Amino acid sequence: MPDQYLTDAQALRQQLIDWRRDFHRHPELGFQEHRSAGIISGRLRALGYRVQTGIAKTGVVGLMEGKQPDPVVMARFDMDALPITEENETDYASQNPGVMHACGHDGHMAMGLGVATLMAQRRDELWGTFKIVFQPGEEGMNGAELMVSEGVLKNPRPDVFLATHVWNNKPAGTVDVTPGAVMAAAEKWDCVVQGKGGHGAAPEQTTDPIVATAQIVTALQTIVSRNVDPLETAVVSVGSLHGGDAFNVIPPQVELNGTIRTFNPQIRELVLRRMGEIIEGVARACGAQIDLKITPLTPAVVNDVETAGVVRAAAEAVVGAENVTTDERTMGSEDAAFFMREVPGCYFFLGSANPERGLDAPHHNPRFDFDEAVLPIGVAILMRTLAHYLLDSKAAE
Ligand SMILES: [Zn+2]
Ligand SMILES: [Zn+2]
Repeated sequence: MPDQYLTDAQALRQQLIDWRRDFHRHPELGFQEHRSAGIISGRLRALGYRVQTGIAKTGVVGLMEGKQPDPVVMARFDMDALPITEENETDYASQNPGVMHACGHDGHMAMGLGVATLMAQRRDELWGTFKIVFQPGEEGMNGAELMVSEGVLKNPRPDVFLATHVWNNKPAGTVDVTPGAVMAAAEKWDCVVQGKGGHGAAPEQTTDPIVATAQIVTALQTIVSRNVDPLETAVVSVGSLHGGDAFNVIPPQVELNGTIRTFNPQIRELVLRRMGEIIEGVARACGAQIDLKITPLTPAVVNDVETAGVVRAAAEAVVGAENVTTDERTMGSEDAAFFMREVPGCYFFLGSANPERGLDAPHHNPRFDFDEAVLPIGVAILMRTLAHYLLDSKAAE
């Protein structure tokens, strides 16, 4: 017997596809999601949600209250597109030149509206409070952080957080629910190595920042290979390196920057500390000065073990246990972490690739597209999870 929540979501299938394609045709960059937010807030109001707009510029929050206030479960869907020119030639391709839903957030908005619709249909069964959040500016803009600072986690404070991402790294029909860390903490680092410039033929009169920088880049490689526990994970990358303009001149300074990715907060502390010690120490050995700035971008996305267990059971009911994995992790980052460091939750991956139909380009690629058949699956998993926390009866269980 098919899962009741999947049956309900399948009944919305065409509507989900229509919503998704409409959002896909009209992609909007982070914090400019005015059209998308307008459609969403209008829909939520029509469904009877108490709606707040303009949070973190273009964010939308809907509240639906049941027979008692607790528990409060928050589901979050991101809305922004990317500055990419779409190369797909579908009839729903982007009509906004240079902007494209190349990450699947169009599908997230459609699933959000689907969940909002099905929760409204079950309003009589609602026991706690359902908080549905449509977030702007996920793509490197930390819209989630801005939403938190504007009070999205207050009035009422959620007890559980849920989010999902369509995921072309996995086939459609599969789902991954991994307990613990699933996406990495990210920092950006910038460094200036200051020496003393001079004639390329008279190095003894200079402090050569190029030689110092070359040793710094090499020495940084020992953080991951020699300092981090081999069973842990970390990335230290140099992303840009600039110094000098002429072949016969030793420049006064070199500028370099890069990124650091970690899952475990202790490993993160270790990497940050060693980064400073190595750059400082090597520069001093070369007689150069350094100015190092490490900017935290996003914390790690860490799934609460208990919540992940509930989502996993829901996923198994919807797609079958054989189609649920528990080992997907990526060094990419995701600003849902700003919600998840305050509220226990689960962020799961909704497999969405269909290579036979050519729907398997990677995320952020100009040919990205995904199998829309997964939209009802995502809705059903979220609904079944919400039912666990918020609905009287988990229908047909
Ligand atoms: Zn993305
Ligand atoms: Zn994304």
